[in-house]
Amino acid sequence: MNKKIVYVDNAATTAMSDVAVKAMLPYLQNFYGNPSSLHTIGQIAKEELDKARKKIAELLNCEEREVYFTSGGSESDNQAIRSAALHGAKKGKKHIITTVFEHHAVLHTLKKLQTEGFEVTYLPVDCNGLIKAEDVAKAIRKDTALVTVMFANNEVGTVLPVAEIGEVCRKNGVVFHTDAVQAVGHIPVDVKAQNIDMLSLSAHKFHGPKGVGAIYCRKQIPLYTFVEGGAQERGKRAGTENLAGAAAMAAALEDACLNMRKNAEKERNLRDRLIEGLLKIPHSKLNGDFKNRLPNNVNICFEGIEGESLLLLLDAKGICASSGSACTSGSLDPSHVLLALGLPHEVAHGSLRLSLSEYNTEEDVEIILRETPEIVEYLRSISPVWESLEKGEKPHLI
Ligand SMILES: *Cc1c(COP(=O)(O)O)cnc(C)c1O
Repeated sequence: MNKKIVYVDNAATTAMSDVAVKAMLPYLQNFYGNPSSLHTIGQIAKEELDKARKKIAELLNCEEREVYFTSGGSESDNQAIRSAALHGAKKGKKHIITTVFEHHAVLHTLKKLQTEGFEVTYLPVDCNGLIKAEDVAKAIRKDTALVTVMFANNEVGTVLPVAEIGEVCRKNGVVFHTDAVQAVGHIPVDVKAQNIDMLSLSAHKFHGPKGVGAIYCRKQIPLYTFVEGGAQERGKRAGTENLAGAAAMAAALEDACLNMRKNAEKERNLRDRLIEGLLKIPHSKLNGDFKNRLPNNVNICFEGIEGESLLLLLDAKGICASSGSACTSGSLDPSHVLLALGLPHEVAHGSLRLSLSEYNTEEDVEIILRETPEIVEYLRSISPVWESLEKGEKPHLI
């Protein structure tokens, strides 16, 4: 790869930071012991694992025993939600509240639970992807076991009023879980101040390694076991611990939190220049809330084009972007998130998500702003849909 690569798909995954790589290596090379072994090298591994857990607990503002390592965001979402559901069911509570635009790790878990006798209320979001805490309050019933609402949306970057939702849940004695995979390491997360009972996070979204994440579970809330076979993670998840991953995740999170303000400011500057520049393209629209927005997210629809074609042509210019969720690409259905915001199918098809990190530069922004308008213009010039829009046979939707 000699060509300059502009990587703007950080909501899908991030490059590992030097800090994280450096933190990982000793555990791959020297401290390779199994934390369950009684000998010295095993006990060193155990101590190091405890250190990683302690660091993460401090950064989330919780206790060490409230942090459980997992294989990442998807597993954390699955375990937290299923656990809260099963616990509720024991007390005859089989109702769950969520939003229509969660990550599929949440939505698919809930769909499965619906086939197992649980009832799920999917709260609609407004045109910017927001819900109000009072919407949650109104949906809570006597038999509500769990509210699961994401901290920040991975496609459109909207940041939800998690602290207020948590307060409503706490008042009503309902467990509150949040998928904070896009928030942790990017915007302030404090499980105590934000009234969070359960939270999912994933290292590879903040410059840590892939395949490692964690669940925060408040000590008053039971966490059920789904992987059996050993006493690791205080009996909540069997399997030899991924110490290298946990240590790197702790180091990456510490680095992200220490530099959060600086990184966010840099990203916000680049983000706002991208938004301003791309919205100069006629018949384009910003998706997601402008104010309550992740500092690194740009999501724009261009009428009359296919997002997939745009991505391929951007890629040919060295620009790595996304049309929305990495998980829905490959299917031709428009994103469930954009449809939830009320966008018509035709418009939702033409979406572009640029998700930044602090590694992006002014030059990256210039390249994107130079290439994208040309590509959009070209795609429109060969689009029958655009032709009929321009002839006035169909009205412009944006
Ligand atoms: C990436 C992501 C996940 C999944 O995390 P993995 O570690 O890749 O399993 C879950 N939720 C959100 C919001 C995400 O962005």
